[in-house]
Amino acid sequence: MTPSRLDHDAVRDALEAAGLRPTPQRLAVYDQLAAMDEHPTAEEVFRAVRPRSPRISLATVYKALEALVAVGAADRLGAESAAGPARYDARGDRHYHFRCLRTGTIHDLPTQYDPRLIEQLDPTLAEDLRRRGFQVTGYRLELLGFQVPGRDRERPGEDEDEPETEPRQGDHDA
Ligand SMILES: [Zn+2]
Repeated sequence: MTPSRLDHDAVRDALEAAGLRPTPQRLAVYDQLAAMDEHPTAEEVFRAVRPRSPRISLATVYKALEALVAVGAADRLGAESAAGPARYDARGDRHYHFRCLRTGTIHDLPTQYDPRLIEQLDPTLAEDLRRRGFQVTGYRLELLGFQVPGRDRERPGEDEDEPETEPRQGDHDA
């Protein structure tokens, strides 16, 4: 259910190795992020962690998330639009995502990461980039679409491989 998440000691070590203090709040933010499968925004992490850490502020959560990203314990996923909030991922292994354009939620895909996919897409791409001074270290793949409400489907029963996705109510302010 929670693949490739670090344990407390590993997060503590990663922070310390980078010269960042493994404060209780930073560790609490990591624990909260690792417990959330929906790639939450900083504000969603803040709301979820506040019952356990009542004195934590949104700014502290932001800084904790960025510290975790900086040491490789978490990943920041870009926003759908420039104005939208970033989302965070506690999974350290490379994997693919599906982004719902209606709700903005991001879901992990149950597909194995293929390190050679870009080479298959264009065998000369990495070399072209290298000549221009860039070194490729990885790639991200995000499928886009939206969740089709089950009840509205015209042909039910054709979704055998569909990952179980509970409807997430967009309890954002917008
Ligand atoms: Zn993910």
